[in-house]
Amino acid sequence: MLLVGPPGAGKSMLAQRFASLLPAMTADEALASAAVASLVGRFYPARYGVRPFAAPHHTASAVALVGGGSPPKPGEISLAHHGVLFLDEFPEFSRASLEALREPLETGLIRIARAAHQAEFPAQFQLIAAMNPCPCGFLGHPTKACRDTPDQVSRYQGKLSGPLLDRIDLHINVQAVPPEQLLNTKSGEQHDQGEDSHVIQQRVEAAHQLAMSRQGSANNLLIGELLNTHMQLAHDAKAFVQQAATKLQWSARRMHRVMRVARTIADLEHSPQVASVHVAEAVQYQRVLGVGH
Ligand SMILES: [Zn+2]
Repeated sequence: MLLVGPPGAGKSMLAQRFASLLPAMTADEALASAAVASLVGRFYPARYGVRPFAAPHHTASAVALVGGGSPPKPGEISLAHHGVLFLDEFPEFSRASLEALREPLETGLIRIARAAHQAEFPAQFQLIAAMNPCPCGFLGHPTKACRDTPDQVSRYQGKLSGPLLDRIDLHINVQAVPPEQLLNTKSGEQHDQGEDSHVIQQRVEAAHQLAMSRQGSANNLLIGELLNTHMQLAHDAKAFVQQAATKLQWSARRMHRVMRVARTIADLEHSPQVASVHVAEAVQYQRVLGVGH
């Protein structure tokens, strides 16, 4: 997920809460996460079975982020295995670090090849990336003016390559919270009137169980023929996807991602079939960055 919004919109808070929305860890997942953490002395018994949350700073080296060294050690992406990797100020990470994320985002693994050593570490994480829409942060802000030239905005957003953005399922605009809304809540903490994390977590768990009982895996692992078999795309939804793909010039990779997101939205609503309304919502989560792509 890529969160785009001005400073103070609550992007970090959302990212930190995210791990608590995920389904409970299975025993295999808990063991795998603990094994990776123990390789670098970061396993604590009290954290066993709790989804890991890693939030490396944007100045972290590519080796610290994805792993490496001699002998090779896992990086933050592997320490976030079966958990959440939060990358704030996403475009500020080095080009090398950003491009190195492409392989694990695709395969859930990172291969480290040095002359003397080869290693492979698991890196199946939920990526939450956050960024301002422009260098000053206020592009599209309802009350504050952006000080950047279109060129500066384009250069800033352009640090994220098309192929990298193609691997991120959900692109979301996070709006600034109006001051009056902040004042109406206790001690400045933001409360969404509706639901607490626990209620949402149960909904996530139910959707995950639906996917598991249908195809024995989570929706993000649906590829090729499996995707066609389990999409159960309504007739008009199929036409809708094809139109959107042509109009927005999606790569095949992006189109498949949109389909998996639509399948998940349908699962959240306990709908066996993926209807055009689910596809339309999935399309809405593509590309909120306007320039340079
Ligand atoms: Zn700006």
